[in-house]
Amino acid sequence: MKLAVVGAGWAGLACAVHATRAGHQVVVFEAARTLGGRARRVDGDEGLALDNGQHILIGAYSATLAMMRELGVDPDAALLRTPLQLRFADGGGLALPRLPAPLDLLAGILFGARGWTLRDKASLLRTALGWRASGFRCAPQASVAELCAGLTPRVMKELVEPLCVSALNTPVDQSSGEVFLRVLHDALFSGRGGADLLLPRVDLGRLLPDAAAAWLSQHGAPLRLGRRVQSLQADGDRWHIDGEAYDQVVLAGPPWEAARLAREANPHWAATAEALRYEAIATVYTQGALRPLAAPMVSLRSGPGAPAQFVFDRGQLGGPQGLLAFVVSASATEREALQSQVLAQAAVQLQETRLRVLQTVVEKRATFACTPDLVRPPVRIAPGLLACGDYIEGPYPATLEGAVRSGAGAALQLGSA
Ligand SMILES: Cc1cc2nc3c(=O)[nH]c(=O)nc-3n(C[C@H](O)[C@H](O)[C@H](O)COP(=O)(O)OP(=O)(O)OC[C@H]3O[C@@H](n4cnc5c(N)ncnc54)[C@H](O)[C@@H]3O)c2cc1C
Repeated sequence: MKLAVVGAGWAGLACAVHATRAGHQVVVFEAARTLGGRARRVDGDEGLALDNGQHILIGAYSATLAMMRELGVDPDAALLRTPLQLRFADGGGLALPRLPAPLDLLAGILFGARGWTLRDKASLLRTALGWRASGFRCAPQASVAELCAGLTPRVMKELVEPLCVSALNTPVDQSSGEVFLRVLHDALFSGRGGADLLLPRVDLGRLLPDAAAAWLSQHGAPLRLGRRVQSLQADGDRWHIDGEAYDQVVLAGPPWEAARLAREANPHWAATAEALRYEAIATVYTQGALRPLAAPMVSLRSGPGAPAQFVFDRGQLGGPQGLLAFVVSASATEREALQSQVLAQAAVQLQETRLRVLQTVVEKRATFACTPDLVRPPVRIAPGLLACGDYIEGPYPATLEGAVRSGAGAALQLGSA
């Protein structure tokens, strides 16, 4: 079967690899000159390979890790694995020891939470036991803030808010409790090391997209870079992409582009995709740090005037010494103000007063806003027309793992579409 995959982000690449392996004749169209979509390498201003945004993977990303291995990328070399830790520069916050789940969480709460009172710890234990008793399920309308009503302000500030914003990229009062619990469940119960943090030691291109491109080319699947698909038209039981005929098409672009191309085939599907709302993520890269950070990833105390939630020491992650990446999730501040606020935050919290901004990448539509009771579009659009991407119906928020699973899932449905 002749198949077109429109978009070479992580979902489209996963779909193309799975479909090629299943014996289909695949052509991939990518509008940009670089592969990887919202998780891609960016050539830095001073010749450095940066990313469009600092990414974190976790041990429970089983589909992504399996795909990396299959494409010849060794996750143990490409990713730095550490037990989950959300430590601030002043030493406060939580770190889990390396123990089988859920003992790691239990020991982490009891012994690894610095600066927490007995009341803080008891509130978390009680709430976590309640989640476990309910099978990590809640009403679809519940927000993360509602789910966590029994937690103390410190546990909210030092654990739930950073976890929620890094996993769902949506503030706690607007985030889906159901999706949050699913992420927690999979991280804690998907097997040993599921909650481990996996920090890239190579740029995002080398983590998966480059290897996927090489694999596709070796297996005879052309990748057309710089080719933005303009139109999609049904013709009997085939589909025309800018006039070229295909038996089936998988739309692997972001929701707004998939909606544009699918509108004629299924206006209801397009309207569902267009109804999604977005959150931004900004990454501020700075140079000139005088000392290495206490860990490759450090939590920051965020609030008004202090926008970054995390900082990554790229010098400890395969990059040059002194290069830091500050991550501002759910960012709403304008670029110039954001940069000055991040520098001021670094001076206070890291005692780094000589940093200078190297480059700031703002992704305005980084992820869909993962709100309660959200309706997401399904994989099937019309006979012979499917979609994949992090926003397609599924249990996960907008993540690499959601994208890869969605791509693999769409490939499985080919032929039966
Ligand atoms: C700054 C930032 C930080 C993030 N941090 C994390 C993190 O720490 N952990 C995590 O798991 N996830 C993170 N994410 C989310 C993750 O990057 C996304 O969920 C994932 O990359 C989405 O992949 P996708 O393939 O679904 O879509 P996309 O990456 O959007 O891919 C779509 C592709 O389609 C192409 N395209 C669009 N229109 C057309 C057209 N008409 N013709 C041809 N091609 C087209 C685009 O150019 C793009 O390459 C982050 C995202 C951002 C932006």
